[in-house]
Amino acid sequence: MAFALTANGKPARCGVPLGPLGAGGTPAVLHDARFHVQDVALIDTAGRAVPLALAQNEWQTASTALLDFEDGSGGCAGGTRGTNNTVTGSVPAGRYAGLSFTVGVPPALNHGSTEKAPPPLDIAAMGWSWQAGRKFIKVEVDPDGGVAKPDGSKARTWYVHLGSTGCTGNPADGESVSCTRSNRLPVTVAAFDPATQAVALDLSSVFEGSALNRDRGGAVGCMSGPTDPDCGPVFRQLGLSLDDGRPVTPGSSPAFTAVVKP
Ligand code: CA
Repeated sequence: MAFALTANGKPARCGVPLGPLGAGGTPAVLHDARFHVQDVALIDTAGRAVPLALAQNEWQTASTALLDFEDGSGGCAGGTRGTNNTVTGSVPAGRYAGLSFTVGVPPALNHGSTEKAPPPLDIAAMGWSWQAGRKFIKVEVDPDGGVAKPDGSKARTWYVHLGSTGCTGNPADGESVSCTRSNRLPVTVAAFDPATQAVALDLSSVFEGSALNRDRGGAVGCMSGPTDPDCGPVFRQLGLSLDDGRPVTPGSSPAFTAVVKP
């Protein structure tokens, strides 16, 4: 099962201009782009979701996979050299018409320490210590001219960090963690041909309602803060409610589309 990262209808890569992005049409380059998925399934011709038994490797546990579109080059300096655009596993023989997955990490795995977790959950850059969990999506771009902040200073990078928020309970003390906003995003592609198509996270869509040359408050960009004025447009494009962290229309996310395999 192939995934892709696109901007302006083309594959988005480190070190290659992404073209104009966001409400202001701001030219930008990629800084980071990775996301976790769980509950990966194929949908058979009767409409049933059949779980994909994930192969276990450096990019996958039995229940999660990490897609990684940054290679540490160009504007992505500080990232990792390896990339991963596929999720592999097996399903019973049958006839399949579509697929589904959820952007996220299951609660039982989300809150453990990155130091003790198996790969790929051991990547510190995807940890989210202040929310005691992981970033489900980490997408960061550097807009031309930087990002003007409300206090008059400038930042280099506009951040999108999606993860569960409002979490209580310290896993280091053996407490279970509960979060008021799950922010897990189920995505269904009803008609999907794995031979010719990939599921793309489209940056043009993610940033459609966002002006990347300025930040309106809170974290620079949107780090899932429920009161961050920049999160409204981002969550709308993802298809999540900023109020309760649930999908607006389960299975539907404007930011994810099926594209011809790059
Ligand atoms: Ca903000």
